[in-house]
Amino acid sequence: MTRRVPPLVPRMREHAASIFGEMSTLAVETGSVNLGQGFPDTDGPQSVKDAAIRAIQDGRGNQYPPVHGLPELRRAIAEHQRRFYGIELDWTADVCVATGASEAIVATLLALVDTGDEVVMFAPWFDVYAAGISLANGVRREVPLTPGTFRPDVDALRAAITPRTRLLLLNSPHNPTGVVFTREELTAIADVVAEHDLLVISDEVYEHIVFTGHEHVPFATLPGMAERTVTLGSAGKSLSMTGWKVGWATGPSDLIHAVRVVRQHMSFVSGGPFQWAVADGLALPDEHWRSFAADMQSKRDLLSAGLIGLGFAVTPSEGTYYVTTDVGPTAYADGLAFCRDLPSRAGVVAIPQQVFHDDPTNGAPYVRWAFCKRPEVLHEALDRLARALP
Ligand SMILES: *Cc1c(COP(=O)(O)O)cnc(C)c1O
Repeated sequence: MTRRVPPLVPRMREHAASIFGEMSTLAVETGSVNLGQGFPDTDGPQSVKDAAIRAIQDGRGNQYPPVHGLPELRRAIAEHQRRFYGIELDWTADVCVATGASEAIVATLLALVDTGDEVVMFAPWFDVYAAGISLANGVRREVPLTPGTFRPDVDALRAAITPRTRLLLLNSPHNPTGVVFTREELTAIADVVAEHDLLVISDEVYEHIVFTGHEHVPFATLPGMAERTVTLGSAGKSLSMTGWKVGWATGPSDLIHAVRVVRQHMSFVSGGPFQWAVADGLALPDEHWRSFAADMQSKRDLLSAGLIGLGFAVTPSEGTYYVTTDVGPTAYADGLAFCRDLPSRAGVVAIPQQVFHDDPTNGAPYVRWAFCKRPEVLHEALDRLARALP
Protein backbone atom coordinates (compact mmCIF):
# COMPACT_ATOMS: atom_id res chain seq x y z
CA MET A 1 0.00 0.00 0.00
CA THR A 2 1.38 3.40 -0.97
CA ARG A 3 -1.11 5.46 0.99
CA ARG A 4 0.55 6.60 4.19
CA VAL A 5 -2.04 9.08 5.41
CA PRO A 6 -3.19 7.83 8.82
CA PRO A 7 -6.96 7.33 8.80
CA LEU A 8 -8.01 8.49 12.25
CA VAL A 9 -7.39 11.94 13.72
CA PRO A 10 -5.12 11.69 16.77
CA ARG A 11 -7.65 13.06 19.24
CA MET A 12 -10.06 10.17 18.53
CA ARG A 13 -7.53 7.34 18.77
CA GLU A 14 -8.04 6.76 22.47
CA HIS A 15 -11.75 6.23 21.74
CA ALA A 16 -11.24 3.47 19.16
CA ALA A 17 -12.15 0.53 21.40
CA SER A 18 -15.49 0.25 23.15
CA ILE A 19 -15.94 -1.96 26.16
CA PHE A 20 -19.52 -2.58 25.06
CA GLY A 21 -18.32 -3.90 21.71
CA GLU A 22 -15.70 -6.11 23.35
CA MET A 23 -18.09 -7.54 25.92
CA SER A 24 -20.98 -8.04 23.49
CA THR A 25 -18.67 -9.98 21.15
CA LEU A 26 -17.61 -12.13 24.09
CA ALA A 27 -21.27 -12.62 25.03
CA VAL A 28 -22.13 -13.93 21.55
CA GLU A 29 -19.02 -16.15 21.33
CA THR A 30 -19.72 -17.77 24.68
CA GLY A 31 -23.53 -17.79 24.61
CA SER A 32 -23.51 -15.67 27.74
CA VAL A 33 -26.38 -13.95 29.50
CA ASN A 34 -25.61 -10.33 28.67
CA LEU A 35 -25.97 -8.11 31.71
CA GLY A 36 -23.47 -5.76 30.10
CA GLN A 37 -25.41 -3.57 27.74
CA GLY A 38 -28.00 -1.21 29.19
CA PHE A 39 -31.13 -1.89 27.24
CA PRO A 40 -34.35 -3.50 28.49
CA ASP A 41 -35.26 -6.90 27.03
CA THR A 42 -38.94 -5.98 27.12
CA ASP A 43 -40.21 -3.20 24.88
CA GLY A 44 -42.05 -0.09 26.00
CA PRO A 45 -45.85 0.35 25.99
CA GLN A 46 -47.94 -1.24 23.23
CA SER A 47 -49.89 2.02 22.84
CA VAL A 48 -46.64 3.80 21.96
CA LYS A 49 -45.74 1.14 19.38
CA ASP A 50 -49.24 1.44 17.91
CA ALA A 51 -48.82 5.20 17.67
CA ALA A 52 -45.61 4.76 15.64
CA ILE A 53 -47.29 2.24 13.32
CA ARG A 54 -50.28 4.58 12.88
CA ALA A 55 -47.97 7.48 12.07
CA ILE A 56 -46.22 5.44 9.38
CA GLN A 57 -49.52 4.24 7.89
CA ASP A 58 -51.02 7.74 7.94
CA GLY A 59 -47.99 9.23 6.27
CA ARG A 60 -46.97 11.31 9.29
CA GLY A 61 -43.21 11.66 9.59
CA ASN A 62 -42.19 9.44 6.69
CA GLN A 63 -40.58 12.49 5.11
CA TYR A 64 -38.23 14.94 6.86
CA PRO A 65 -39.92 16.28 9.98
CA PRO A 66 -39.26 19.90 11.09
CA VAL A 67 -35.57 20.45 11.78
CA HIS A 68 -35.65 21.02 15.55
CA GLY A 69 -38.32 18.41 16.18
CA LEU A 70 -41.98 17.85 15.45
CA PRO A 71 -44.01 20.66 17.08
CA GLU A 72 -46.25 18.03 18.73
CA LEU A 73 -43.20 16.40 20.32
CA ARG A 74 -41.62 19.67 21.41
CA ARG A 75 -44.94 20.63 23.04
CA ALA A 76 -45.07 17.21 24.74
CA ILE A 77 -41.50 17.59 26.05
CA ALA A 78 -42.25 21.07 27.41
CA GLU A 79 -45.46 19.76 28.99
CA HIS A 80 -43.54 16.81 30.51
CA GLN A 81 -41.03 19.18 32.15
CA ARG A 82 -43.90 21.29 33.52
CA ARG A 83 -45.96 18.32 34.71
CA PHE A 84 -43.18 16.47 36.53
CA TYR A 85 -40.91 19.32 37.67
CA GLY A 86 -42.75 22.63 37.33
CA ILE A 87 -40.20 23.80 34.73
CA GLU A 88 -41.78 26.32 32.33
CA LEU A 89 -40.42 26.13 28.77
CA ASP A 90 -41.35 27.82 25.51
CA TRP A 91 -41.64 24.83 23.19
CA THR A 92 -40.82 26.96 20.17
CA ALA A 93 -37.41 28.06 21.48
CA ASP A 94 -36.36 26.05 24.54
CA VAL A 95 -36.55 22.49 23.16
CA CYS A 96 -34.44 20.64 20.60
CA VAL A 97 -35.17 17.07 19.49
CA ALA A 98 -32.14 14.91 18.67
CA THR A 99 -31.17 11.46 17.43
CA GLY A 100 -31.11 10.10 20.97
CA ALA A 101 -29.61 11.82 23.99
CA SER A 102 -26.27 10.70 22.53
CA GLU A 103 -26.52 13.16 19.67
CA ALA A 104 -27.77 15.83 22.05
CA ILE A 105 -24.65 15.32 24.23
CA VAL A 106 -22.24 15.63 21.32
CA ALA A 107 -24.08 18.55 19.72
CA THR A 108 -24.20 20.42 23.02
CA LEU A 109 -20.49 19.87 23.66
CA LEU A 110 -19.63 20.98 20.11
CA ALA A 111 -21.82 24.06 20.53
CA LEU A 112 -20.56 25.15 23.95
CA VAL A 113 -16.95 23.92 24.22
CA ASP A 114 -14.13 25.48 22.20
CA THR A 115 -10.58 24.27 21.66
CA GLY A 116 -8.77 24.01 24.99
CA ASP A 117 -11.84 24.65 27.13
CA GLU A 118 -12.00 22.35 30.13
CA VAL A 119 -15.01 20.20 30.92
CA VAL A 120 -15.33 18.79 34.42
CA MET A 121 -17.25 15.61 35.13
CA PHE A 122 -17.52 13.03 37.85
CA ALA A 123 -15.89 9.66 37.19
CA PRO A 124 -16.92 7.04 36.29
CA TRP A 125 -18.42 8.79 33.28
CA PHE A 126 -20.49 7.71 30.27
CA ASP A 127 -18.14 6.95 27.35
CA VAL A 128 -19.91 9.33 24.94
CA TYR A 129 -18.92 12.25 27.21
CA ALA A 130 -15.22 11.60 26.81
CA ALA A 131 -15.50 11.12 23.04
CA GLY A 132 -17.69 14.21 22.68
CA ILE A 133 -15.19 16.37 24.56
CA SER A 134 -12.43 15.11 22.28
CA LEU A 135 -14.56 15.86 19.19
CA ALA A 136 -14.93 19.42 20.48
CA ASN A 137 -11.16 19.64 21.08
CA GLY A 138 -11.93 20.24 24.74
CA VAL A 139 -9.98 18.96 27.72
CA ARG A 140 -11.65 16.64 30.19
CA ARG A 141 -11.04 16.82 33.93
CA GLU A 142 -12.43 14.00 36.00
CA VAL A 143 -13.43 14.14 39.63
CA PRO A 144 -13.78 10.62 41.04
CA LEU A 145 -16.94 9.82 42.97
CA THR A 146 -16.09 8.56 46.45
CA PRO A 147 -15.01 4.92 45.99
CA GLY A 148 -17.59 2.46 47.24
CA THR A 149 -20.41 4.89 48.08
CA PHE A 150 -20.09 6.82 44.81
CA ARG A 151 -21.24 10.05 46.45
CA PRO A 152 -20.00 13.27 44.80
CA ASP A 153 -17.08 14.96 46.55
CA VAL A 154 -17.91 18.63 46.17
CA ASP A 155 -14.58 19.84 47.60
CA ALA A 156 -12.78 17.76 45.00
CA LEU A 157 -15.06 19.25 42.35
CA ARG A 158 -14.21 22.77 43.49
CA ALA A 159 -10.50 21.93 43.44
CA ALA A 160 -10.75 20.67 39.85
CA ILE A 161 -12.05 24.00 38.50
CA THR A 162 -9.46 26.19 36.73
CA PRO A 163 -9.74 29.47 34.82
CA ARG A 164 -10.15 27.37 31.65
CA THR A 165 -13.13 25.44 32.99
CA ARG A 166 -16.19 26.22 30.93
CA LEU A 167 -18.67 23.46 31.60
CA LEU A 168 -19.73 20.85 34.12
CA LEU A 169 -21.17 17.63 32.74
CA LEU A 170 -23.52 16.09 35.29
CA ASN A 171 -25.40 12.79 35.25
CA SER A 172 -27.97 11.80 37.85
CA PRO A 173 -29.46 9.21 38.15
CA HIS A 174 -25.92 8.07 37.47
CA ASN A 175 -24.68 5.53 34.96
CA PRO A 176 -22.80 3.29 35.76
CA THR A 177 -23.00 3.43 39.57
CA GLY A 178 -26.78 3.62 40.10
CA VAL A 179 -26.57 6.48 42.61
CA VAL A 180 -29.07 9.34 42.55
CA PHE A 181 -27.61 12.64 43.73
CA THR A 182 -29.57 14.17 46.61
CA ARG A 183 -30.97 17.69 46.65
CA GLU A 184 -28.26 18.63 49.18
CA GLU A 185 -25.49 17.26 46.95
CA LEU A 186 -26.88 19.01 43.88
CA THR A 187 -27.28 22.26 45.80
CA ALA A 188 -23.62 22.12 46.88
CA ILE A 189 -22.65 21.42 43.25
CA ALA A 190 -24.80 24.37 42.14
CA ASP A 191 -22.86 26.64 44.51
CA VAL A 192 -19.61 25.68 42.76
CA VAL A 193 -21.24 26.25 39.35
CA ALA A 194 -22.41 29.72 40.38
CA GLU A 195 -19.07 30.65 42.00
CA HIS A 196 -17.22 29.85 38.79
CA ASP A 197 -19.90 30.93 36.30
CA LEU A 198 -19.99 27.56 34.54
CA LEU A 199 -22.33 26.14 31.94
CA VAL A 200 -23.89 22.76 32.74
CA ILE A 201 -25.05 19.78 30.76
CA SER A 202 -27.36 17.73 32.99
CA ASP A 203 -27.88 14.24 31.57
CA GLU A 204 -31.14 13.10 33.14
CA VAL A 205 -32.02 10.21 30.82
CA TYR A 206 -32.82 7.95 33.81
CA GLU A 207 -35.20 10.53 35.34
CA HIS A 208 -38.09 8.03 35.46
CA ILE A 209 -36.03 5.13 36.84
CA VAL A 210 -35.67 6.23 40.46
CA PHE A 211 -36.43 3.87 43.34
CA THR A 212 -38.39 4.18 46.59
CA GLY A 213 -36.79 6.57 49.04
CA HIS A 214 -35.00 8.57 46.34
CA GLU A 215 -36.00 11.62 44.35
CA HIS A 216 -34.96 12.92 40.96
CA VAL A 217 -34.10 16.60 41.29
CA PRO A 218 -33.61 18.23 37.87
CA PHE A 219 -30.52 20.42 38.13
CA ALA A 220 -32.31 23.26 36.32
CA THR A 221 -34.81 23.54 39.21
CA LEU A 222 -32.10 24.69 41.64
CA PRO A 223 -31.83 28.45 42.19
CA GLY A 224 -29.86 30.19 39.43
CA MET A 225 -29.23 27.00 37.46
CA ALA A 226 -31.98 27.19 34.78
CA GLU A 227 -30.20 29.99 32.90
CA ARG A 228 -26.97 27.98 32.55
CA THR A 229 -28.17 24.37 32.17
CA VAL A 230 -28.94 22.23 29.14
CA THR A 231 -31.00 19.24 30.33
CA LEU A 232 -31.07 16.00 28.36
CA GLY A 233 -33.80 13.37 28.15
CA SER A 234 -34.27 10.16 26.16
CA ALA A 235 -37.25 8.19 24.91
CA GLY A 236 -34.90 5.21 24.78
CA LYS A 237 -34.65 5.19 28.56
CA SER A 238 -37.99 6.76 29.56
CA LEU A 239 -40.16 4.73 27.18
CA SER A 240 -37.97 1.60 26.90
CA MET A 241 -37.42 2.12 23.17
CA THR A 242 -33.63 2.37 22.98
CA GLY A 243 -33.62 1.51 19.27
CA TRP A 244 -35.81 4.45 18.32
CA LYS A 245 -33.09 7.00 19.08
CA VAL A 246 -35.27 9.93 20.06
CA GLY A 247 -33.79 12.27 22.66
CA TRP A 248 -33.96 15.96 23.49
CA ALA A 249 -32.25 18.96 24.99
CA THR A 250 -34.14 21.62 26.91
CA GLY A 251 -33.00 24.88 28.47
CA PRO A 252 -32.78 28.62 28.00
CA SER A 253 -33.35 29.74 24.42
CA ASP A 254 -29.82 31.08 23.85
CA LEU A 255 -28.19 27.79 24.86
CA ILE A 256 -30.76 25.73 22.93
CA HIS A 257 -30.24 27.97 19.90
CA ALA A 258 -26.52 27.13 20.06
CA VAL A 259 -27.30 23.40 20.29
CA ARG A 260 -29.72 23.66 17.35
CA VAL A 261 -27.15 25.39 15.14
CA VAL A 262 -24.74 22.47 15.58
CA ARG A 263 -27.21 19.61 15.72
CA GLN A 264 -29.01 20.55 12.50
CA HIS A 265 -25.73 19.84 10.67
CA MET A 266 -25.32 16.43 12.26
CA SER A 267 -28.35 14.22 11.59
CA PHE A 268 -30.54 17.16 10.36
CA VAL A 269 -33.66 15.24 11.48
CA SER A 270 -34.53 11.68 12.36
CA GLY A 271 -37.21 9.27 13.45
CA GLY A 272 -40.25 11.14 12.08
CA PRO A 273 -42.94 8.55 12.94
CA PHE A 274 -41.21 7.78 16.26
CA GLN A 275 -41.43 11.45 17.21
CA TRP A 276 -45.22 11.26 16.91
CA ALA A 277 -45.27 8.15 19.09
CA VAL A 278 -42.94 9.60 21.73
CA ALA A 279 -45.21 12.65 21.98
CA ASP A 280 -48.03 10.24 22.90
CA GLY A 281 -45.82 8.28 25.28
CA LEU A 282 -44.69 11.29 27.31
CA ALA A 283 -48.35 12.03 28.06
CA LEU A 284 -49.01 8.59 29.59
CA PRO A 285 -50.82 8.79 32.95
CA ASP A 286 -49.07 8.84 36.33
CA GLU A 287 -49.92 5.20 36.92
CA HIS A 288 -47.78 4.21 33.95
CA TRP A 289 -44.70 5.97 35.32
CA ARG A 290 -45.24 4.50 38.78
CA SER A 291 -45.50 0.96 37.52
CA PHE A 292 -42.53 1.45 35.17
CA ALA A 293 -40.28 2.43 38.08
CA ALA A 294 -41.78 -0.27 40.33
CA ASP A 295 -41.09 -2.97 37.73
CA MET A 296 -37.48 -1.85 37.40
CA GLN A 297 -37.18 -1.73 41.18
CA SER A 298 -38.33 -5.35 41.49
CA LYS A 299 -35.63 -6.34 38.98
CA ARG A 300 -33.07 -4.37 40.95
CA ASP A 301 -34.14 -6.20 44.09
CA LEU A 302 -33.90 -9.60 42.43
CA LEU A 303 -30.41 -9.09 41.02
CA SER A 304 -29.05 -7.22 44.05
CA ALA A 305 -30.22 -9.89 46.50
CA GLY A 306 -28.76 -12.60 44.29
CA LEU A 307 -25.39 -10.87 44.05
CA ILE A 308 -25.30 -10.31 47.81
CA GLY A 309 -26.13 -14.01 48.26
CA LEU A 310 -23.11 -14.87 46.12
CA GLY A 311 -20.87 -12.86 48.44
CA PHE A 312 -20.44 -9.68 46.43
CA ALA A 313 -20.26 -6.32 48.16
CA VAL A 314 -23.15 -4.43 46.54
CA THR A 315 -23.57 -0.66 46.55
CA PRO A 316 -27.34 -0.16 46.74
CA SER A 317 -28.78 1.03 43.44
CA GLU A 318 -31.01 4.09 43.85
CA GLY A 319 -31.98 4.45 40.20
CA THR A 320 -31.03 3.61 36.55
CA TYR A 321 -30.67 0.13 35.04
CA TYR A 322 -27.54 -0.73 37.03
CA VAL A 323 -26.15 -2.06 40.26
CA THR A 324 -22.46 -1.99 41.18
CA THR A 325 -20.47 -4.63 43.01
CA ASP A 326 -16.93 -4.80 44.32
CA VAL A 327 -14.95 -7.86 43.14
CA GLY A 328 -12.98 -7.73 46.38
CA PRO A 329 -14.42 -10.98 47.77
CA THR A 330 -13.51 -12.88 44.55
CA ALA A 331 -10.07 -14.13 43.58
CA TYR A 332 -9.72 -11.44 40.91
CA ALA A 333 -7.26 -8.56 41.01
CA ASP A 334 -9.74 -6.12 39.49
CA GLY A 335 -13.03 -5.70 37.69
CA LEU A 336 -11.53 -5.77 34.21
CA ALA A 337 -9.87 -9.15 34.79
CA PHE A 338 -13.10 -10.42 36.36
CA CYS A 339 -15.27 -9.26 33.46
CA ARG A 340 -12.90 -10.62 30.80
CA ASP A 341 -12.98 -14.03 32.48
CA LEU A 342 -16.65 -14.17 33.38
CA PRO A 343 -18.16 -15.05 29.95
CA SER A 344 -16.06 -18.19 29.47
CA ARG A 345 -16.07 -19.10 33.14
CA ALA A 346 -19.70 -18.45 34.04
CA GLY A 347 -21.54 -17.56 30.84
CA VAL A 348 -22.43 -14.07 32.09
CA VAL A 349 -21.34 -10.65 30.87
CA ALA A 350 -20.91 -7.55 33.04
CA ILE A 351 -19.04 -4.27 32.55
CA PRO A 352 -15.89 -3.19 34.43
CA GLN A 353 -16.15 0.32 35.82
CA GLN A 354 -12.50 1.24 35.45
CA VAL A 355 -12.79 1.87 31.70
CA PHE A 356 -14.93 4.90 32.52
CA HIS A 357 -12.08 6.63 34.37
CA ASP A 358 -8.92 8.39 33.20
CA ASP A 359 -7.28 7.10 36.35
CA PRO A 360 -8.46 3.46 36.38
CA THR A 361 -7.28 2.84 39.95
CA ASN A 362 -10.39 4.63 41.21
CA GLY A 363 -12.74 2.25 39.45
CA ALA A 364 -10.57 -0.87 39.54
CA PRO A 365 -12.58 -3.11 41.89
CA TYR A 366 -16.04 -2.27 40.55
CA VAL A 367 -18.34 -4.02 38.13
CA ARG A 368 -21.64 -2.79 36.66
CA TRP A 369 -24.51 -5.23 36.22
CA ALA A 370 -27.63 -4.33 34.19
CA PHE A 371 -30.88 -5.56 35.76
CA CYS A 372 -33.24 -4.20 33.06
CA LYS A 373 -33.93 -7.80 31.98
CA ARG A 374 -36.80 -10.27 32.45
CA PRO A 375 -36.79 -12.03 35.85
CA GLU A 376 -36.08 -15.42 34.22
CA VAL A 377 -33.00 -13.94 32.56
CA LEU A 378 -31.77 -12.53 35.88
CA HIS A 379 -32.41 -15.90 37.57
CA GLU A 380 -30.48 -17.69 34.83
CA ALA A 381 -27.54 -15.30 35.25
CA LEU A 382 -27.54 -15.82 39.02
CA ASP A 383 -27.74 -19.62 38.63
CA ARG A 384 -24.78 -19.56 36.28
CA LEU A 385 -22.78 -17.36 38.65
CA ALA A 386 -23.61 -19.64 41.57
CA ARG A 387 -22.35 -22.68 39.65
CA ALA A 388 -19.14 -20.99 38.48
CA LEU A 389 -18.17 -18.94 41.55
CA PRO A 390 -17.89 -21.26 44.53
C1 LIG B 1 -28.27 5.57 27.40
C2 LIG B 1 -27.64 6.82 27.85
C3 LIG B 1 -27.58 7.95 27.01
C4 LIG B 1 -27.96 7.90 25.57
O1 LIG B 1 -29.31 7.93 25.32
P1 LIG B 1 -29.85 7.64 23.86
O2 LIG B 1 -31.17 8.35 23.84
O3 LIG B 1 -29.96 6.16 23.70
O4 LIG B 1 -28.89 8.21 22.87
C5 LIG B 1 -27.07 9.12 27.52
N1 LIG B 1 -26.62 9.19 28.78
C6 LIG B 1 -26.61 8.14 29.59
C7 LIG B 1 -26.07 8.29 30.97
C8 LIG B 1 -27.11 6.91 29.16
O5 LIG B 1 -27.06 5.85 29.96
